[in-house]
Amino acid sequence: MLDPITFSSAKPAPGAFATTWAAHGPTRTVRSPIDGAAIGSVTTATAEDAESVIAAAHSAFQGWRLVPAPRRAEVVRQLGQALRGRKEDLAQLITLEMGKPIAESRGEVQEMIDICDFAVGLGRQIGGLTLPSERVGHRLQESWHPLGVVGVITAFNFPAAVWAWNAAVALTCGDTVVWKPSSKTPLTAVACTRIAAEVLERNGHPGAVCSLVIGSGREIGDRLVSDPRVAMVSYTGSVPTGRHVGRVVQERFGRHILELGGNNAAIITPSADPEQALAAVFFGAVGTAGQRCTSTRRVIVHESLYDRMVEGLKSGYARLPIGDPRDEGQLMGPLVDPAAVQTMQAAITRAQEQGGVVLQGGEVLEREGGCWVTPCLIQAHPGMAIVREETFAPILYLLSYRDLDQAIALHNDVPQGLSSAIFTNDMREMERFLGPAGSDCGLANVNTSTSGAEIGGAFGGEKETGGGRESGSDAWKAYMRRQTAVINASGSIALAQGVSFEL
Ligand code: NAD
Repeated sequence: MLDPITFSSAKPAPGAFATTWAAHGPTRTVRSPIDGAAIGSVTTATAEDAESVIAAAHSAFQGWRLVPAPRRAEVVRQLGQALRGRKEDLAQLITLEMGKPIAESRGEVQEMIDICDFAVGLGRQIGGLTLPSERVGHRLQESWHPLGVVGVITAFNFPAAVWAWNAAVALTCGDTVVWKPSSKTPLTAVACTRIAAEVLERNGHPGAVCSLVIGSGREIGDRLVSDPRVAMVSYTGSVPTGRHVGRVVQERFGRHILELGGNNAAIITPSADPEQALAAVFFGAVGTAGQRCTSTRRVIVHESLYDRMVEGLKSGYARLPIGDPRDEGQLMGPLVDPAAVQTMQAAITRAQEQGGVVLQGGEVLEREGGCWVTPCLIQAHPGMAIVREETFAPILYLLSYRDLDQAIALHNDVPQGLSSAIFTNDMREMERFLGPAGSDCGLANVNTSTSGAEIGGAFGGEKETGGGRESGSDAWKAYMRRQTAVINASGSIALAQGVSFEL
């Protein structure tokens, strides 16, 4: 049997799967950002391939929705077990394909396992309310039913976990899934789908419950987004594309979960433990080379701690081990591709033009592959337009403040609303930050990083981050349709609100 995680450049892996693996578009060679070496290739899907995949997923839904939820969850349990068995191999592939340090890739696969565990329990917990009726002998009953095909469109930076967040929950909820991964990380997507397909087949579900279609966002992504057979689109990516996806799905009254860009800040107050704050900001800003939606991009430091924080961060940045992300102990690998390096350089230039001062880093490193940089610390001021933008690279803007209201106002004065943090040992400051006039983000952290969410909570953000929620808590509700039933066991007809309608 084909090993799920083995690829070669000579023999392209078909980039579409529903009931069989078959794709008829151009072949794409995949290069590692570590050194530019070819690590495999995929045949991309054509529009016709995408049509077959969507049709098969829609047809598979008719049967999958009738499988009892605990039995669907048992399949998800086995998926979690299969991922446990291949954790190291899958982590190595993620690192090779997108360049994050191996320890972070292991964390990404662990997150997939964790969401499978969560979805197993969910299989016995999906439940609706029973509510009192105003009519004698009646009751109201809510049921949650499977929704349909869920289209999952993912970004490059979490090439496996975002699919798992959606797929594990959607499968337990009785939906079938069609995944369109980022074109930058197709091999990881093929590997995950092969693992899922094997588990499903072993359980008597040979195809189209968990499908894959690899191709350009504009052509293949757009097909998923506009197809009325795709009941829900879970889209993770940049704000401009998310805006387009939101409009198209809304136009056809489909459902969407939008998980878009963030511009996350940490407020460091005078009562903070400076070492704790430094460690958390360092991880938030530099982890995944600043390519997390939750990366810390702004630090708003009380003026009494500003110099100390600047010195601490400069020293950490200067000592940061940057190197081959497959080697244990490296904390930063390459950016995902040379275009990301250009984007980062252009942002640094703009920041300087707007009055920012580079305090440390921001250099391009001359290494093979052309994707290597040092992370950049920039002293900024609130008038800089670029500080309000998300640059998907390791640039950290430092701002200072005098009173907390000013810090919270600065914090919220960006279009995005994903993650936030405050470092404080003053409970009144904490409560202000967590209260209705505090952080306006979907995620609010106290004395810990903006980045590194756990699967147990609902994940997502406000404003231009799109408003979607996925992963834990009651995010599963987005993957199901709610039906309110009125059950009349009274033996006669009685109308609500006391209405009389008798001949
Ligand atoms: P991107 O927007 O370039 O691509 C994301 C996905 O959209 C890819 O699969 C791409 O092929 C697809 N796509 C492109 N055009 C499309 C179209 N017209 N229709 C449908 N799909 C289309 O994003 P990226 O560079 O891969 O990822 C970085 C961005 O993703 C950042 O903004 C980051 O903040 C965001 N992100 C958000 C979250 C979150 O949970 N909020 C998580 C990860 C990444």
